Amino acid sequence: MLALFFTECNMCHRCSLYCPFGLDIAFLIGQVRRICFLLGIVPYILLDYVYSLSATLT
Ligand code: SF4
Repeated sequence: MLALFFTECNMCHRCSLYCPFGLDIAFLIGQVRRICFLLGIVPYILLDYVYSLSATLT
């Protein structure tokens, strides 16, 4: 599931335009990513990238 949520969606929101129920799938995937981040189960390479960016901004 982790690989699915972090590698199979690029947050383009295209599916939201076509969902017959009006679901915003990209929003839901974003929420799952936030929950995974809070649980500390984000892919290491992504964490490393974010921390290296935040270190350059401070
Ligand atoms: S936002 Fe929807 S259409 Fe776009 S990549 Fe993610 S799941 Fe696919």
